Amino acid sequence: MQFSTTSTTQPTPAEQREEALHTPKIGKVFTDHMVTIQWTSEDGWHDARVRPREPFSLDPASAVLHYAQEIFEGMKAYAQPDGTVALFRPADNAHRFNASATRMTMPTIPEAVFVEAIERLLRVDSAWVPKGEGTSLYLRPFMFATELFLGVRPANRFTFCVIASPAGAYFKGGAKPITVWVSEHYTRAAKGGTGAAKCGGNYAAGLIAQAEATRHDCDQVAFLDAAEGRWLEELGGMNVFFVVSGVLVTPSLGTILPGITRDSIISIAKKRGLHVEERPYSFDQWREDAATGRLTEAFACGTAAVIASIGKVRFKDGEFPIPGGPLTDALRDELVGIQRGVVADDFNWTWRVK
Ligand SMILES: *Cc1c(COP(=O)(O)O)cnc(C)c1O
Repeated sequence: MQFSTTSTTQPTPAEQREEALHTPKIGKVFTDHMVTIQWTSEDGWHDARVRPREPFSLDPASAVLHYAQEIFEGMKAYAQPDGTVALFRPADNAHRFNASATRMTMPTIPEAVFVEAIERLLRVDSAWVPKGEGTSLYLRPFMFATELFLGVRPANRFTFCVIASPAGAYFKGGAKPITVWVSEHYTRAAKGGTGAAKCGGNYAAGLIAQAEATRHDCDQVAFLDAAEGRWLEELGGMNVFFVVSGVLVTPSLGTILPGITRDSIISIAKKRGLHVEERPYSFDQWREDAATGRLTEAFACGTAAVIASIGKVRFKDGEFPIPGGPLTDALRDELVGIQRGVVADDFNWTWRVK
């Protein structure tokens, strides 16, 4: 794939950029450039461009605005101690992007092109990678249907795009434990549905449950399975882990999003000799394990927040606390250490941006 590059003639003034990097507000401030690549059924992927970030001009009949053929990824670039920049498992994001594309009847993109698009954006916007503790440059690759068409069938034109935003700590108040609201009314994903695809529509459908969580003074919503309303699935945008009698338990893949953070935590835990079980875990069991003291820790995980310990669980008929312990912190320290290049990367997860 040939990429053309046009640099912005109006870069953000250095002073303003430094200010943005000093107190990053993820998803509110963006870098100066973006990458776009077009796909049509006749020509496949073409017209790859690194260009100034600017609004899209979209026809009101663009298919994405009506039937929501849209997918995305979320990943981070981390400043390394030697001054280079590293991505974390970018090929896994590329692979998952294509799995989402296949589920949503969208074209797949060669993994090497996906990663190159991100590397090119990082090179042109290298001054935007923050260096402070807990900071990174959040990257948002996404793809949407641009064909002008109101019929119901897969579109034949798509745009792939990557934008970037400096990121600080995800939850307000840093690493303090979060409160989770268990939604007993709304569900996120059903068997055969799109739960394992990273598509915007999943989020649109879950916002009402997140709003319910906010109304109950909770940071995040936890979803139960759609078939029985019994088994923990995941949070609105994060996977979930439980420490029960010293065993690390996490819901099995299927209707949940296969998180790269989730997968990394499983690998790190196994390397540390911990017993890990990927299996169904019910809300009733969660309550009972909390009451008997068998449950010592629980945490949510994802690229944005990395690992956030869950300190309290609230639901329609009550709430219960979770004590918290050393495992959550140990796993977080090792994972963050690998990402920042200060802990040995035994798994070969780090990808140096050239
Ligand atoms: C992206 C996402 C996650 C976390 O995936 P990571 O690869 O760890 O960032 C978990 N759940 C949902 C619904 C997501 O969209």
